[in-house]
Amino acid sequence: MTSNYHRILLKLSGEALLGEQGHGIDGDILTQYSEEIKSIHDEGFEVSVVVGGGNIFRGVKGATEGMDRVQGDYMGMLATMINSMALQDSLERMGVQTRLMSAIRMEEIAEPYIRRRATRHLEKGRVVIFGAGTGNPYFTTDTAASLRAIEIEADVILKGTRVDGIFDSDPEINPDAEKFPTITGEEILDRQLEIMDLTAFTLCRENKTPIIVFDMNKVGNLKKVLAEDTSIGSKVVWEDS
Ligand code: UDP
Repeated sequence: MTSNYHRILLKLSGEALLGEQGHGIDGDILTQYSEEIKSIHDEGFEVSVVVGGGNIFRGVKGATEGMDRVQGDYMGMLATMINSMALQDSLERMGVQTRLMSAIRMEEIAEPYIRRRATRHLEKGRVVIFGAGTGNPYFTTDTAASLRAIEIEADVILKGTRVDGIFDSDPEINPDAEKFPTITGEEILDRQLEIMDLTAFTLCRENKTPIIVFDMNKVGNLKKVLAEDTSIGSKVVWEDS
C-alpha cells in the first residue's frame, strides 16, 4: 500500500471499549480494534497506540463526587493501563509483537517510557502502546497522544472515534450536520469545534502534526484512512504546513 504516512499514532478512547456494556471492556470491540491494528501493522506501518481510560475512571468525575482531583487523575491513569494491558494481550494473541510503555513506573507489567527505546521498538516492527497518559494529573490521554506523537515524530495522529470525522454540529444530534473532509486548525478554533482538548490541540498546532479524525468502529476504516481514502474521516491541516 502506498501512503504518505509511515509512523502513526492511533488514539483510542476508553469509552469506545465499553461497546454495548455499561462498564468495563467489551471483548468483541477489543478484538475488532486489534484486528484493525493488525491489518495496518501487516502492511508495514510503524504503529503506536494511546488508549484512554474513560470506560473505567475519570478524575473529573471523581472530583464532582468529592474525591481529591489529583488522586482521581492517578486512578484514571491506572485505568488506561488496564485498557492498554487488555489491548496488548489481544494483539499478542493475534501474533502481533507489542511493547507496553508506562508513564508511571510499574516495571513488573510495563517498560518505563523512554523515548529512544520507543522509537527503536517501532523500527523493529513492534506495536508500542503508551499507557498511563502523560504520567501527570490534570492532563488527558488526548494530550498524551499529541505529546508522544511529537516525541516519536509520528507522521500523523489518527483519532478513532464513533463518528466519521469533524462536523459543523454534532452528527449524533443533528442528522443534517455537515462533515469537513479537511479543515484548518484556525477554523476549528473559530467554530469552537471540540476535537480534542486545548492542550492537546495546541501541541499539535505548534508542531504542525496532522490529525485525522475517523470512525474507528467501521471495519476496514483504519486501513482506508492510511491509504488516504479522503471519503473517510476529516483531516486537520495547519496553515503554511
Ligand atoms: N489522566 C491524567 N493524566 C493524563 C492522562 C489521563 O490525569 O496524562 C486521567 C484523567 O483523570 C482522565 C483519565 O485519566 O480523565 C482517563 O483518561 P481520558 O479521560 O483522557 O480517557 P478517554 O476520554 O480517552 O477515555
